Amino acid sequence: MAFEGLADRLQNTIKKITGKGKVSEQDVKEMTREVRLALLEADVNFKVVKDFIKRVKERAIGQEVMESLTPGQQVIKVVKEELTNLMGGEQSKIAVADRPPTVIMMVGLQGAGKTTTTGKLANLLRKKYNRNPLLVAADVYRPAAINQLQTLGKQLSMPVFSLGTDANPVDIANQAIEQAKADHNDYVIIDTAGRLHVDEALMGELKQIKADVKPNEVFLVVDAMTGQDAVNVAESFNEQLDITGVVLTKLDGDTRGGAALSIKAVTDKPIKFAGMGEKLDELEAFHPERMASRILG
Ligand code: GDP
Repeated sequence: MAFEGLADRLQNTIKKITGKGKVSEQDVKEMTREVRLALLEADVNFKVVKDFIKRVKERAIGQEVMESLTPGQQVIKVVKEELTNLMGGEQSKIAVADRPPTVIMMVGLQGAGKTTTTGKLANLLRKKYNRNPLLVAADVYRPAAINQLQTLGKQLSMPVFSLGTDANPVDIANQAIEQAKADHNDYVIIDTAGRLHVDEALMGELKQIKADVKPNEVFLVVDAMTGQDAVNVAESFNEQLDITGVVLTKLDGDTRGGAALSIKAVTDKPIKFAGMGEKLDELEAFHPERMASRILG
């Protein structure tokens, strides 16, 4: 399960301080030292850890905790609040268009789970919000990607817009939006091409689609299992494309948690959804507070 190592270590560290009637500065220092090691071991970005520990220490050694009646509990509250803040604080919702359709562009490297997530997101929008999305196959380089999306469309009984592999992705996206207006689809979710690595050709194409289509959201899909690589990928995509949010996939695997805990701090873009399995109903809105509670037990 995700975060297992981190959760165990943090919970053990915290247990030592919970029951204390009095908490000394030395106790706080010892605790933060252990929290720091646990976070680094979970592959959280070094600078993110440093800032996090600084904030926890300042608050834990401050009046709020030291003068309270239950200082042990207060220290934990501080750690939990700071973990929640680290992951974005409030849950971040989808930005919707003033006039439908709301256009969401899905971007990411090959294998991250972009096409699957396109289907999952459409499914979630329909099931939870009663929406009627159109899926768009704009990955023209891999015929298999188009087939994959069409298969997902069939499974979900949802329309998939495709012009095959010969059309230009910008044209595909624009025509899809026209089609969505005609057919009253209130969401258009565009599955764009991915590559094995971040490269100029990929970014050039994605920038063009974004500039032309002006999507309401640009969601970067990253694989949580890749840890700091996921964070680096998020940083490059954000620099080039100014993404609006992140979907973290494969949080059901045994990820150490580094990506989930670093991405918001590094990119300043919220994690909006989390992939919790391969099935089409295994996508959830990302709740920072619930995730922090899960980690801290
Ligand atoms: P793309 O190349 O980015 O479009 O990636 P795909 O959508 O083809 O997904 C790559 C693989 O990751 C597939 O085997 C998916 O079933 C799997 N996958 C996607 N999301 C998740 C997830 O949240 N959890 C798990 N366990 N597998 C996932």
